[in-house]
Amino acid sequence: MNGTEYHRKLGIGESAFDALTDHLEERSYDGLEYRHVPDYRQGVERGTALIAGEVVRGFPKIPRTLVLETGIPNQFDGEEEIAVEEKLNGYNVRFARIDGDVLAFSRSGMVCPFTTRIADRVVDLDPLFDAHPEATVCGEMIGPENPYTAHDYPGVDSIAFRAFDWRDRRTGEPLAVSARRERYEEFDVPQTQLFGTYDVADAAAAVDRIVRGLDAEDREGVVMKSPDCARQLKYTTSASNRGDLAYAFSLPFDYGREFVFRRLIREGFQTVERGESDHEVRERARDLGEAILLSMRESIETVDAGGTVGERHTVRASEESIDVLLEHLRGQGLRIEIEADRREDGERVVTFRKRTQATNDKIRNYLDGHIARE
Ligand code: ATP
Ligand code: MG
Repeated sequence: MNGTEYHRKLGIGESAFDALTDHLEERSYDGLEYRHVPDYRQGVERGTALIAGEVVRGFPKIPRTLVLETGIPNQFDGEEEIAVEEKLNGYNVRFARIDGDVLAFSRSGMVCPFTTRIADRVVDLDPLFDAHPEATVCGEMIGPENPYTAHDYPGVDSIAFRAFDWRDRRTGEPLAVSARRERYEEFDVPQTQLFGTYDVADAAAAVDRIVRGLDAEDREGVVMKSPDCARQLKYTTSASNRGDLAYAFSLPFDYGREFVFRRLIREGFQTVERGESDHEVRERARDLGEAILLSMRESIETVDAGGTVGERHTVRASEESIDVLLEHLRGQGLRIEIEADRREDGERVVTFRKRTQATNDKIRNYLDGHIARE
């Protein structure tokens, strides 16, 4: 398909499409050439894919508030109510049916060959796409056996899917929250939990209560949505901040400083909004410090003992799906080291590590007495 037709499907002018073309990344999946928008571009969502003559819109960026009391009325100005759903900690996926095949798109609009292959193990989307071929099923892949972000959820023992949004494939228009939840129910698609619908005017207190409960269970947070799903807002728990910080400081030279800084700032605003006492804020400080220092100590000790550190993941799938996954990761420039590779109930279970070069090298150098000029 030529550019003229894509620009019509995207709803943008020809010259805007020409300007976009330079920023499109070209890839192929299973012999099918396609293009996608790998980063944010004006007018076209990051993650939008142009494939087999079809447009699959990217999933929008969700803004965050650091203060519930003021952030909620600000973001939902003019709305009466908001729905509060759980924010799950996994990786974003969009399923769309292209030329008869259900494909899984990553956040940046790549077809993820692994998620595409294991899709039917976690959810049967055929009845849904038969009835609604134009749908994009948006959700989070969660659970421990996951090649990107492993976080444990009670009752989830391997990779699993939870839907949290339903959009028109071409326009990106969302279904309203209630219609979406009914549809997923109808098609037996597992979804993220809905805590309830609250008046905007007093949602902050309710959200605070929900977030405290999630925090105690080491869960990530909430996404608040206007009933028509046009506006969204996220807020996360301290447990999630600590988990991210612990992870980042286990690989301190591979994580961006901004990543760490943002999470520390969130803690500052949360303690103030909650009006915590000196005792409480000291407890928060200790938990925060422990998250940072204990994980960093472990990494330094590992390298000191001659080992290497890196993101470790375990995946369980067919022989072929795992080969394809490892090839896909290596194709993205990652160095993958296999730590364990075994068969279990006819499936292959592989534990691998994404080698994080900078952290390994720098820790080694500092241990060897490298003098830092800082
Ligand atoms: P980006 O916003 O670009 O995805 P990010 O790392 O900032 O990147 P997060 O902080 O994880 O993203 O927040 C947004 C993501 O949260 C969504 O992209 C989605 O994958 C995930 N998510 C989990 N649960 C929900 C939910 N109930 N509703 C919407 N998004 C959810
Ligand atoms: Mg996330």
